[in-house]
Amino acid sequence: MCGFRGTGKTEIGKVMAERLHLPFIDTDQLIEFRTGRSIPTIFHEEGEERFRAVERDVIAALPKKDVVVSTGGGVVIDPSNVEHLRKDSMLVLLVADIDTIEQRLLRKPRPPLTGLPLREEIAELMDRRRQNYYAASDFCIDTSETTVEVAAERVIRTLQDGTLTIKQRETGMAFFKTGRIPAPAFHTLETMFTAPARDPLTRLMGVAGYPCAHSKSPALFNTLFTRYSLNYHYTWFEDPEIDEIMRIARSLDVKGLSITIPFKQDVIPHLDEVDEHDARQIGAVNTVVFACGSAIGYNTDWLGVRKPLVTLKGATAVLLGAGGVAAGAAYALTDLDMKVTILNRTPKNAEVLAAQFGCGWGTLEDIGKIKPDLVVNATPLGMHPDDHSPLSDDQLNKEMTVFDLVYTPPETPLIKQARRIGCRTITGTEMFIEQAREQFYLFFGIDVPAEQVREMIP
Ligand code: NAP
Repeated sequence: MCGFRGTGKTEIGKVMAERLHLPFIDTDQLIEFRTGRSIPTIFHEEGEERFRAVERDVIAALPKKDVVVSTGGGVVIDPSNVEHLRKDSMLVLLVADIDTIEQRLLRKPRPPLTGLPLREEIAELMDRRRQNYYAASDFCIDTSETTVEVAAERVIRTLQDGTLTIKQRETGMAFFKTGRIPAPAFHTLETMFTAPARDPLTRLMGVAGYPCAHSKSPALFNTLFTRYSLNYHYTWFEDPEIDEIMRIARSLDVKGLSITIPFKQDVIPHLDEVDEHDARQIGAVNTVVFACGSAIGYNTDWLGVRKPLVTLKGATAVLLGAGGVAAGAAYALTDLDMKVTILNRTPKNAEVLAAQFGCGWGTLEDIGKIKPDLVVNATPLGMHPDDHSPLSDDQLNKEMTVFDLVYTPPETPLIKQARRIGCRTITGTEMFIEQAREQFYLFFGIDVPAEQVREMIP
């Protein structure tokens, strides 16, 4: 059980353990037992950092057997805690509205975590940790207007039966029959949804696009699920209509979607929230997290473009293309203080994107006038089965760095051409690795090392 203080983790956990005839563990109590001091005393004498260190040790040493565990409210902030807790386990997030939490905390005071008055502290911390809670958990139960016994029963029922009705599963199968899913992957879905011995707790995720059969995300994510012992399956949601994909995803209680061509902008009206920091400013979403009845959109593409370019801060850059990925790339390049010119087949689209980020703009032919240090390709040119480079040999020179965001094939015509000319090259695989790591963190709260992702890419 995870969730903010005052959502009922300990009380509900105790009732569940009793009904399921399992041991009950409260990590806060374990910390007090281990240190021989109360939590307020640890906070007061040694500070939150020391408390978090003991908490980390306690989480790592939890027994690997059937047991009900209630965790401290801040446990989910540390990705290594989430990795340990998630291994072969189901995490249930308990939520409650702010009035309920305030009332419960007034009855049973806990040490303050900020200098703010109680209600403001609750609002501030709930907001700050919400994304961590959503990522760390598999199921969500609202405990605001219910008794401990009823809430415990709801958690037990969810953990026994999952969340999908027969009707929802039938609708799901009808949808997947219309997509171009490879036969073995379709068979996996049939087993998940219709086999008598199906595991009702296996949850679905996927890549949403049209087309999206080229995506390497299913192979990567399914390998990550095995590596981190997560009871999830990742597949292809291929359909010409994003509203149909979102309808099915909500109905199948999908945990998350990666969004690809051509839906990165079109998906926004179908979301309950868009991350205000980056996705809103970019105007494109490539990651949707479903949690507690909400669909929240994020953009991790821009981080995938930014990370391999940090040493080129302040460079003169040309960005080819003005679509969804180009928007994230423009955000990343301007974030690195680069002087950016956007060149596109349809100049009007370049002009619109350029205005959004304060860049120059033009047509692909204008590259000769600019003499950039960096060229970033955000068009699909060179993506299998296409075998064209967006540039001719005389538009490149060996002083340039060339970053092709296309990653299928790993060595695109542009990358081969740039290497022949002597340019420094960065392949689309580098972007894929970084954006996938960030997505996995948003979906599950686990920090995967880049090298591990690289080894897992098919
Ligand atoms: P998009 O929204 O469809 O935009 C495509 C852009 O490319 C548009 O500006 C379009 O110009 C231009 N374009 C399309 N066909 C062209 C052609 N034949 N000649 C010249 N320009 C052309 O696509 P997107 O979502 O931005 O994705 C772009 C590429 O990024 C994908 O193909 C994919 O390979 C790559 N990608 C890589 C990663 C990664 O992790 N490495 C992740 C996602 C995507 P108009 O404005 O004239 O239509």
